[in-house]
Amino acid sequence: MHERGYYGPFGGSYIPEILVATFDELVAAFDDAKADPDFWRSYEQLMQNYSCRPTPLTYAENLTEHFGGARIYIKREDLNHTGAHKANNVMGQGLLMKRMGKHRVIAETGAGQHGVAAATMAARFGFSCTVYMGEIDVARQRPNVFWMERLGAEVVAVTEGTRILKDAINEAFRDWVSNMDDTHYVLGTACGPHPFPEMVSWFQSVVGQEARRQVLEQAGALPKRVYACVGGGSNAMGIFQGFLDDDVELVGVEAGGRGLASGEHAARLATDDATVGVAQGYKTFFLQDDDGQMRETHSVAAGLDYVGVSPILANLRETGRVRFAAATDKEVVDALALTVRKEGLIPALESAHAFVQAFREAPDLSRDDVIVINQSGRGDKDIFTIADAFDDPSWKQFIRDKAEEYEADAE
Ligand SMILES: *Cc1c(COP(=O)(O)O)cnc(C)c1O
Repeated sequence: MHERGYYGPFGGSYIPEILVATFDELVAAFDDAKADPDFWRSYEQLMQNYSCRPTPLTYAENLTEHFGGARIYIKREDLNHTGAHKANNVMGQGLLMKRMGKHRVIAETGAGQHGVAAATMAARFGFSCTVYMGEIDVARQRPNVFWMERLGAEVVAVTEGTRILKDAINEAFRDWVSNMDDTHYVLGTACGPHPFPEMVSWFQSVVGQEARRQVLEQAGALPKRVYACVGGGSNAMGIFQGFLDDDVELVGVEAGGRGLASGEHAARLATDDATVGVAQGYKTFFLQDDDGQMRETHSVAAGLDYVGVSPILANLRETGRVRFAAATDKEVVDALALTVRKEGLIPALESAHAFVQAFREAPDLSRDDVIVINQSGRGDKDIFTIADAFDDPSWKQFIRDKAEEYEADAE
């Protein structure tokens, strides 16, 4: 057995001395909630009532026909309130905050999805909310900033450093240090110092519990393989946990960006490009240079564009339990287009990474085999990025017309 919060050599809690008491309090509250069956029951009730749980498992009959191999099932996390599995984590942490008597929430966000989810949770529970976001991200993610502000959150544009996600994380920790008594930091994925990887994975495990039950009911068998995209690793941990003890292959799919050879990607576990280091409070594989400077990553899917990865997944790779692959931006757009046309489903760009790898492998399996893809979120909220990726001329004209209208208004 390893020390608490370690997964093999990965994980841990590398935090400033001043936050130790706050983390101890959080670990104690989490352990207490975990040992209380009423807490999980109230979580399930909340998610049922507020976020469409249990989400369905959809048989993708047309895609199955198209590839002529394995029967393809899709777990519908896109149907959650706010459009992705992120709701599972933020609502769970909201309940925990209530139990701890905290009434202010802070969050970091890159693309803004986690910020919107956190602001939604704060509105629902009546907490005040501050979201830290790099100045560059604030500028390029206006629709999400718009909703966070409407939901009552204060969005702080971080002007330090490179003005993106990692700088927002630093600012959120700085805020927490000065407001520990009433504030909880709701981290968005299965990364960061202990207990966040374990706690976020625990809330997300609802996905795997449901999926296992549903696939047995609907397909009459356990799946041969389960596919999930991997940013920080929370949706993957969520669905994988349902099948860890079964004879089921688990496949994590990372952002291959402009191709692995280009260096412009965010594939930490599917390549040997990442090395072990400590940053942002935990030990894992980071895409970093020889001096430990974080490299720039790239993905068409903002949610996968991150230098680190869950320490739990890092360990599951080392033990061989989870296999990793990467999908390029171009492959992702093609898989998304096919899924929209064949099934009328619009996966998020992030989720479409998992579809790419499933589509590569499905034809070589037989109709007796079942595979499950986790559709972590919906893509219609990504219309700006997806329309760009499809290079849709009428969409561009619409935006130009809209801009002209605003120009005319201003005169
Ligand atoms: C944020 C996000 C991800 C990536 O986060 P994980 O923690 O790796 O799950 C994946 N899919 C969607 C739709 C997201 O919004």
